[in-house]
Amino acid sequence: MKCEKCSNERENGSEYVFFYGKLMQITAPSPGFRKHNYGIAGQEKAWICNLCVIRKFLLTGTGISTILFVLSLITWLFEPNVVQRIFDTDPTFIGVMGTIVFGFVLMRHVMLFGFESVTHFGDMVAYEAKHEQLERQGYNSFFTRGQRKQLRS
Ligand SMILES: [Zn+2]
Repeated sequence: MKCEKCSNERENGSEYVFFYGKLMQITAPSPGFRKHNYGIAGQEKAWICNLCVIRKFLLTGTGISTILFVLSLITWLFEPNVVQRIFDTDPTFIGVMGTIVFGFVLMRHVMLFGFESVTHFGDMVAYEAKHEQLERQGYNSFFTRGQRKQLRS
């Protein structure tokens, strides 16, 4: 299949979906709280290769947190001496703090998007590949499947 983001022929990839629409109005139900009301006009699909999705994931805060989370966990469990040499401080402290902080970021993402966590980054790439044409048609609001689910709840 041809990836619609990088235009390369790839074997491994999936079809991803994003929704497009317009911001209809902003209401203020209570002081200091604003509610954005969107009108969803439709959805667009794109076939995206796994490489593009992984690249996107690694460049987001969630991706960076995942890497740091795994690194913290590994150093904490297996290589406390390396941490001690680099930071010249208690390795357990750094490992535990890193694991807690970055684990929290990951958990927050999963709690926000649930099962859509897995498709969220692919949907973002699908948006990047196809949003320009839709913006020319006047659409200004775009959502991944996970974000759309949040809108309705
Ligand atoms: Zn690609």
